[in-house]
Amino acid sequence: MQDFINNLPKLAKDKHKENKTFFAKLKKKPPKQLDYLMQELHETEFERTDCLDCANCCKTTGPLFTTKDIERIAKFFKMKQQQFIDTYLHLDDENDYVLQSVPCTFLGADNYCSIYDVRPKACSEFPHTDRKKFQQISNLTLKNVAICPAAFNIVEAMKQRIK
Ligand code: SF4
Ligand code: SF4
Repeated sequence: MQDFINNLPKLAKDKHKENKTFFAKLKKKPPKQLDYLMQELHETEFERTDCLDCANCCKTTGPLFTTKDIERIAKFFKMKQQQFIDTYLHLDDENDYVLQSVPCTFLGADNYCSIYDVRPKACSEFPHTDRKKFQQISNLTLKNVAICPAAFNIVEAMKQRIK
């Protein structure tokens, strides 16, 4: 798994042009059954990919923290929201709260998330490959295939299934 993760940026770069063309076509004319297909591809991929063997998203990128995320996680730590923000977060260029540093401070050496039950919504939904109207997040997916081995495999499978 680690070799695949290490190679992902190069693999994704090699596929970028092909993927961009594929998603441009998909956006123009998404197949009627796309939501079902994505559900199937997502489930199949995550039956064979164990995030605990990877955690590359937690190591290399961080989630955005919504107001609700901050409320929930600060409560979990019994901290005031501002105290939680000052300790762990900062505002990025787009005025979103993000982690002060990566790997994520809540990630353990065993790849477990120490705030798993209250983790940000963006973490629980990553890599978003089972969301409805998947064609709408193609730009994000083009980036995620360089980070997430599961997303990379799912996009490769999509290209096989949607001609
Ligand atoms: S979501 Fe993707 S990048 Fe994150 S741990 Fe799972 S397989 Fe790895
Ligand atoms: S909060 Fe948990 S799931 Fe989200 S990036 Fe950090 S360790 Fe990963």
